[in-house]
Amino acid sequence: MSRVLVVEDESAIAELISINLRHAGYEVTVASDAIRASGEVDRVLPDLVILDWMLPGQTGLSLAKRWRTEARTKDMPIIMLTARSDEPDKIAGLDAGADDYLTKPFSTNELMARIRAVLRRKAPEALDSAVEVGGLRLDPATRRVSRGDQEVKVGPTEFKLLHFFMTHPERVHSRAQLLDRVWGDHVFIEERTVDVHVKRLREALAPVRCSQMIETVRGAGYRLTQQVPAAA
Ligand code: CA
Repeated sequence: MSRVLVVEDESAIAELISINLRHAGYEVTVASDAIRASGEVDRVLPDLVILDWMLPGQTGLSLAKRWRTEARTKDMPIIMLTARSDEPDKIAGLDAGADDYLTKPFSTNELMARIRAVLRRKAPEALDSAVEVGGLRLDPATRRVSRGDQEVKVGPTEFKLLHFFMTHPERVHSRAQLLDRVWGDHVFIEERTVDVHVKRLREALAPVRCSQMIETVRGAGYRLTQQVPAAA
């Protein structure tokens, strides 16, 4: 389930967005100012942030700028909300690092469509589209993993881990990054946890001869690759 953080001080708007997101299957947290928002992001890295420009205290704009300077949050998808429809404001919002920008009042359908578009571009593991890499297929909607007509049994955590690997193939991910992107928490969970689940994932993939797709990159982390010798 995708985690969305809604940063909005107007409770009626925050409520409206939350109801719609929950209805669409997202897990929602609301923060009413920048300090609470920072606290939430430190605790669990969301898959996407809906960030209001005008907040009491620090503005959404400066919060977005700060998140973009930090390694952990620099790629975190952000959609900015604002009551201002002026072109210079829109540019300032996008310059601050927002991935998209929506002017109030907006339709919830449009917000949902923008969320899906941003996730597709920046966090495809947060969506329900089926993925296929090297003959291995994973379908989040049915929670099935298969290769050809052989089904693969994987536990819930290994499923999420494999989903993340398959939507970001050939790239090396550190244990801290995997904890943030798969578990949402790199602070309170030990990095060794990643090794345990990678091991289980390889075991689960063994019957379909795909264990080798999960590579250990010494001193760096893990990578999913399809550049493995074809299985007999
Ligand atoms: Ca506001």
